[in-house]
Amino acid sequence: MDVNKQINLFQDFFEKYYKAELLTALSTNKNFIIIDFVKLSMFNPELAEILLEEPEETLKAAEIAVKKFSNEEIKRFNVRLTNLPSARLKFIRDIRSQDLGKLIQVEGIVKQKSDVRPQVIAARFECPSCGNIMTVIQTSQTFKEPTSCSCGRKGKFKLLSKEMIDAQGLVLEEIPEKLEGGEQPKRINIFLKEDLVSPVSEKRTNPGSKIRVIGWVKEKPITTKGGGKLTRFDLMIEANNIESIEETFYEINISKEEEEEIRALANNPKIYKKLVDSIAPSIYGYEKIKEALVLQLFGGVRKKRSDGIISRGDIHILLVGDPGSGKSQLLKRIALIAPKGRYVSGKGVSGAGLTATVVKDDFLGGWSLEAGALVLSNDGICCIDELDKMSNEDRTAMHEALEQQTISIAKANIQATLLAKTTVLAAANPKLGRFDPSTILAKQIDLSPTLINRFDLIFTIRDIPNEIRDDRMAKHILNLHQNPEIEEPEIKTELLKKYIAYARQKVQPKLTDAAIEEIKKYYVKMRSSGGTEDDFVRVIPISARQLEALVRLAEASARVRLSDKVTRKDARRAISLLTYCLMQVGVDEHGRIDIDRITTGIGAS
Ligand code: ADP
Ligand code: MG
Repeated sequence: MDVNKQINLFQDFFEKYYKAELLTALSTNKNFIIIDFVKLSMFNPELAEILLEEPEETLKAAEIAVKKFSNEEIKRFNVRLTNLPSARLKFIRDIRSQDLGKLIQVEGIVKQKSDVRPQVIAARFECPSCGNIMTVIQTSQTFKEPTSCSCGRKGKFKLLSKEMIDAQGLVLEEIPEKLEGGEQPKRINIFLKEDLVSPVSEKRTNPGSKIRVIGWVKEKPITTKGGGKLTRFDLMIEANNIESIEETFYEINISKEEEEEIRALANNPKIYKKLVDSIAPSIYGYEKIKEALVLQLFGGVRKKRSDGIISRGDIHILLVGDPGSGKSQLLKRIALIAPKGRYVSGKGVSGAGLTATVVKDDFLGGWSLEAGALVLSNDGICCIDELDKMSNEDRTAMHEALEQQTISIAKANIQATLLAKTTVLAAANPKLGRFDPSTILAKQIDLSPTLINRFDLIFTIRDIPNEIRDDRMAKHILNLHQNPEIEEPEIKTELLKKYIAYARQKVQPKLTDAAIEEIKKYYVKMRSSGGTEDDFVRVIPISARQLEALVRLAEASARVRLSDKVTRKDARRAISLLTYCLMQVGVDEHGRIDIDRITTGIGAS
């Protein structure tokens, strides 16, 4: 099909389906239009086929067709595509040389993002001897100058002007959930330009976001240190369109039947027990911890007050325990259930680590931002194992991430604040690797008091021999080894995931007066139970942070029932969990609960 025919066909196509949209775009200086590939292939399968095989040239024809709709001269206009056939969805790892130049789509997480830089697309030169002006279109990576003029002159020409567009580089990484276990996620460079780097579209490509890139594969020469070119090439994708494919708690699709199933579950009086049994059936015991994890998955309500202050709804939980007590197993299971769950080890995460880092960018030059685990699981759950072994930098940034839910970074002229609305489930070992029964537990948590204080619930797990328990647990574990599939969760993992997502999307419970009264009564009682008037220093058992924790836990408990009212019973469930945690770590010599002991190891008494 020759180019003129292509242009005519595109013109007819626009006339038929996109006329109104196109005219608005042209009159408002919105220099792009998104067309549905399926519509195009129904309109003319042959043209659609050519577009798949030779996207760059074919889109130029579409661009020319667009320009015929306007009387004024338009410099640049982009025709962007959506809804490509699924056969064109490629894994980054599967891109081969035969894909070069072809239209494909890839999905991944934005790992790094460079600054927006201008790029020359055309340059005008003047010949110093005859004054002739030449325009050189810049299509390759290196800047091209004319080699000779029509007057016969060779050599240097005077650069008059350059036409620039905005450009930006991304590094896209494969989505870990879509890989089979143990594979290293592969990366590819993505090249964006013009309106794809406009402030509006930029939001979509923040590090940590999941996106689908539609574009064509290009080879990128690798230059050696001496300036020569290798025969081996690197790959990159020139983006034609970027779409967000975020799957968070809030964006899971739930069918009508599933909704009914979920509603039935929520009305079941035994639902809390069912959930506790389903959350990690292969781990024996730990009912209280599992109950807390259920509430964590459902989460409290995020509130924005009228003065702009936001209080988080995420419930952060810390497990500190003896080695071999099943902590890592629990974390891995939660990462599996949570829609945007991620499992990382505090020790193993290098580079971006838990938060974010600035790295040297060899794609576009300069520096770029690389998101760490907490940013990547924005709106999801991040399970951090071996928290006590994380790097010092991460340790500082964790404070901000847990309470303010943002991560700020200022390094090498990049200053950014990334969102980290992430629920954190962390696990750590005690200071000496194992709890020493002769000293109080609080002193053995090897984390700074300010960080510990940001966790809503802290569980300590001690592995103390106990004949009855050991017997049952041994039986449980050995049984699992004999028949790995017997412990099927009562609520299937897929449904559980949807249940959680549904509750988070649809239900925003509010405290009832009864719940408020219950929490207040508990708070006042705990605050005053510290000591008598003649105590030298009054013991301050719990602080306002715990009060907020109670509210979040109670809200989560109401969400389990899909109820928009937080009842007295919900408040009691929250109180019972908090008391359980405090009893384990925070009890002082007199059996009183003392929060200062948990957070500082030194009791106020
Ligand atoms: P930790 O991270 O606490 O050091 P792991 O999660 O690595 O411990 O657990 C070690 C092993 O012990 C795992 O294979 C796990 O299945 C088993 N295990 C420990 N506690 C339990 C339990 N309560 N129920 C079932 N298995 C357990
Ligand atoms: Mg472990």
